Amino acid sequence: MPPITVRFRRFTSLNTTIRLRESQIFVSLSDLLEGAPEAVIHAIAHILLAKLYKKPIDAAENLRYKRFASSAAVTRQTELIRHARGSKRYFGPEGRFYHLEEVFDSLNLRFFGGLLGRPELTWSEHHAKRSLGHYDAAHNTIVVSRVFDRPSSPRYAIEYLLYHEMLHLKHPVKMRGVRRCVHSREFKAEEALFPRMAEALAFIKRL
Ligand SMILES: [Zn+2]
Repeated sequence: MPPITVRFRRFTSLNTTIRLRESQIFVSLSDLLEGAPEAVIHAIAHILLAKLYKKPIDAAENLRYKRFASSAAVTRQTELIRHARGSKRYFGPEGRFYHLEEVFDSLNLRFFGGLLGRPELTWSEHHAKRSLGHYDAAHNTIVVSRVFDRPSSPRYAIEYLLYHEMLHLKHPVKMRGVRRCVHSREFKAEEALFPRMAEALAFIKRL
């Protein structure tokens, strides 16, 4: 049996990965599975090894894992919402003029084939001008400044802002040596696909 390294990671999906590299097995699991009962851990091990060695997966083991995973996903969702509402003040996606979820969903369809998972979306508490928008990876939340929630704010401006933050979801921060590369070359190339970027930037500058 090859040596096995197992890692539990926070804020990844429930999807697990298994890899055989240089005759070592690397397994990566969601931290939600860390406290799982032994029968579930056994089921996960069974499924992953079956996948790795291309063997059939036992239906009972599969069912055991699926049951646990769906309840764990619910737990995480509840925890996320509590987290967002508790330690971080939560103002919600519904503004007076724009609904962030609606804007997110339309951008997701237009630019990402609808494939981006929707994070928590919330308007900022104040009409912040210093921070117009940011993606908070720890809380999986995009915060948009309330200055955009007014009729004089064109839709393409808030769309551009949200599009930029969505690219942060798609392109996680890379380390280049000791430097964090937040806006990589691929990030910028994809950002340039936004049709009214120049106008949006001009509007933001006026703000
Ligand atoms: Zn950015």
